[in-house]
Amino acid sequence: MNNRKKPTSEVETQVLIKSRRRCCLCWALEGNQNERLGQIAHVDRNPSNSDFENLAYLCLEHHARYDSRASQSKGFTETEVKTYRDELYRLIAQKYDSRPFYSLDGWCRSGTRTVTFTVAFPATPHVLVSPISKKPCTYALSEISTTGFTVNFRTEQHEEVAFNWLAFLDG
Ligand SMILES: [Zn+2]
Repeated sequence: MNNRKKPTSEVETQVLIKSRRRCCLCWALEGNQNERLGQIAHVDRNPSNSDFENLAYLCLEHHARYDSRASQSKGFTETEVKTYRDELYRLIAQKYDSRPFYSLDGWCRSGTRTVTFTVAFPATPHVLVSPISKKPCTYALSEISTTGFTVNFRTEQHEEVAFNWLAFLDG
């Protein structure tokens, strides 16, 4: 009896988009980030469980190895596939999501303030700073990295400067 339920096309599409047709085992074990010919695998090997959480895009070879129970060698575990899949989803989201990561307000007393991002960027971002001050002020940015930046405000008197900042990656 074949009670294999195919994933609904909507869930399937989500898996294809989230993975960008990258095989998480190729990526995690071989560093291969290229698009692969593949299929959507059921992580728990139960073809009737087609929840998004239970699906992963695998290349043909890795899918065959994953589903094979006859193998003499240690087979891939569910935890391995789920871990690598989730890592791959995060990496892809970071790489392809070009929306600004941060847009916040800050302040400092005329002088130097170091801003630390709460989540590291995958690459050095662009940072734009807009001082909000009634008095003239100049500023300089330095040490922009994946983890934050330093902004140095200069005002004529020692005063508090509010500022907006925006950090983003190239689209
Ligand atoms: Zn693969």
